[in-house]
Amino acid sequence: MNINVVCPHCLEVSSIEKKESYSEENCTQCGESLLDSRPIDGNANILENFITNSDLPVIVDFWAPWCGPCIAMAPHFELAAMAMPLQAQFLKINNDDEQTLGSKLLIASIPAVLVFKEGKEIDRFVGARSSSQIKEWVKQYL
Ligand SMILES: [Zn+2]
Repeated sequence: MNINVVCPHCLEVSSIEKKESYSEENCTQCGESLLDSRPIDGNANILENFITNSDLPVIVDFWAPWCGPCIAMAPHFELAAMAMPLQAQFLKINNDDEQTLGSKLLIASIPAVLVFKEGKEIDRFVGARSSSQIKEWVKQYL
């Protein structure tokens, strides 16, 4: 069975074989590694691309530079993302830069982490969590 994923480098869609784990998997468009699962900086258009085209859960951290708990959680979110290559896809969105999107998604306080699956938000949490807590939360939706 194949799944579609969005390349974190070129943002094009690659169709790859679905596996339990991956040792190597490269983008069919740009050739860069799809295992590079550090959160990418997103915006409304990039989020739309991911939730429309990726068959993996899309995990989005809404944050802002002035938000202490957001800054504190950032390395934890990155660690969680790096632990789950090609299990979920991770984005960060600056809520100050994307206020229209933030209000559309009813982001009232940050950090807020949302999970999208099959084009729809299915859950969220608000407030900083540790990397292991984030991983446990994401695993429910894999
Ligand atoms: Zn690519």
